[in-house]
Amino acid sequence: MENKKTVLIAGAGIGGLATALRLVKQGYTVEIIEKNKTAGGRLNQIKKDGFTFDTGPSFFSMSYEFEEFARDCGIELPFDYVELDPLYTVHIKGNPKTFFINKDLKKFSEQFAEYEPNMEEKMRKYLSKAGALFDDTVDLVIKNNFDTKINYLLTLARVNPVHIPVLLRSFWQQVNRYFDSKEARQIISLVAFFLGRTPFDTSSIYTLLSHTEFQHDGYYNVKGGMYKIVEGFVSELEKAGAKIHYNVEVTGYKANGNRLESLIDQTGKHWKADVILVNADAAVFRNKILKRKDFSDERMDKKNWTMGYLTIYLGIDTKLPNVHHHNYFLGSNYEEYATRVMREPGLLEKPYYYVNVLSKHNPECAPAGSESLFIVCPVPNLLHKPDWSDKDKIIDSIIEDFSERVGVDIMPHIVTRMSYSPKEWESFANLWRGSGLGLAHDIKQIGAFRPANFDEDFKNLFYVGASTHPGAGLPMAIISSKLAFERIQKLG
Ligand SMILES: Cc1cc2nc3c(=O)[nH]c(=O)nc-3n(C[C@H](O)[C@H](O)[C@H](O)COP(=O)(O)OP(=O)(O)OC[C@H]3O[C@@H](n4cnc5c(N)ncnc54)[C@H](O)[C@@H]3O)c2cc1C
Repeated sequence: MENKKTVLIAGAGIGGLATALRLVKQGYTVEIIEKNKTAGGRLNQIKKDGFTFDTGPSFFSMSYEFEEFARDCGIELPFDYVELDPLYTVHIKGNPKTFFINKDLKKFSEQFAEYEPNMEEKMRKYLSKAGALFDDTVDLVIKNNFDTKINYLLTLARVNPVHIPVLLRSFWQQVNRYFDSKEARQIISLVAFFLGRTPFDTSSIYTLLSHTEFQHDGYYNVKGGMYKIVEGFVSELEKAGAKIHYNVEVTGYKANGNRLESLIDQTGKHWKADVILVNADAAVFRNKILKRKDFSDERMDKKNWTMGYLTIYLGIDTKLPNVHHHNYFLGSNYEEYATRVMREPGLLEKPYYYVNVLSKHNPECAPAGSESLFIVCPVPNLLHKPDWSDKDKIIDSIIEDFSERVGVDIMPHIVTRMSYSPKEWESFANLWRGSGLGLAHDIKQIGAFRPANFDEDFKNLFYVGASTHPGAGLPMAIISSKLAFERIQKLG
């Protein structure tokens, strides 16, 4: 294959790895430098005492994006994935019922017989609007590069004007138009939390996510754990001759006019290439490394960031037959909680949380008779809660609540216990104030209003990942890799 330019990638998160694979398969010479000792970034893995834990992502949507990626690279997808059914379960405090979130709308709706009359019909109406939003925006807005804000606004003007009123509503307001009961409203609006904010401050455009979960493609789990994605990508990269250097943290740069010559690491070593792609957070890199005025500490703090996550990894020496693979445990004060959780640490006394039992579908991830539990609790990021000295107290209250609700006191069964507060997330992946998903996805921070995937000053510098276009989540990282790859290809 024709020998093209050399590319240096800073960061071996999913965005960096995916772009590396696209590039190396097109004949570019690729090197990756990663500050941590393993690849994957937030999509990482902990192995301890015979237990395996995924550190962050525990499922993905839009599987066809991964398939398209594999086709683009001319490879077989190097991991196996399994559709989740039910997608997840929801438990509401004070209600003994377990709600199963099924793609089969009849099955799903039957569970609401005592709460929401005509649930199936209402769901179909709600999803029909969500589906139209998805069809009219995803290809046009999410899967496109925008060179200028005007170019972006002109593209938006091509979106069907029937959706304009939706722009003015929150996710919660949109859901309230279709459903009356608190049970239906809470369960349908939960997906807004997947974007790292709440249904109250997320635009109703994102009700298109209800279409992706219920109708379009659903959710998928990876056989052997989510980290198989990273292992598969790294193995493909090694086969294709790309090099990954671990424990190399970018701390500075050297430029020559409008060209970025090299990135400088913590030892003072210069890493040079024709093209440089940054997979570290696109806003944080402009703040910390490039020291851009527009990304000063003050301006960074004024941007809207996603919430933090308190993640807990527990190995227990007993089975939990009544707990499913993905489970949400809600309290009894959803509206109060959701409107305040981003900012008020006090609410953590009664936390809401998500529990993933990796060993349920992947018995090899825990010793026989044991279970590997991953708990995610949405919490204020470090802007709103800088002190995490009470981390273990909060974790104990979650374990207590969970034990009560599943009817098994797991405390005496814990053999392994680890956790990351937003403080650890901040340093592990260089996330601004420990914000779990990076920049939020409000109207002022998406499309051409998100930090661009090309640099403002250096013509050979590009960005990929959660805080550039199109946004957070594994499928978005795959789309982001395509958009960054297209920019690099244009250079010739
Ligand atoms: C708790 C949690 C749960 C999640 N759950 C899901 C889920 O279920 N499904 C889903 O689709 N998404 C989920 N996400 C979101 C998903 O993990 C991210 O959107 C995605 O992994 C981001 O990938 P990325 O490549 O943009 O960034 P990262 O994964 O952050 O990768 C960036 C890499 O750059 C490295 N780096 C940073 N600074 C430097 C530097 N100066 N020098 C060298 N290297 C550097 C970092 O160490 C890191 O490896 C979750 C995220 C979290 C935190």
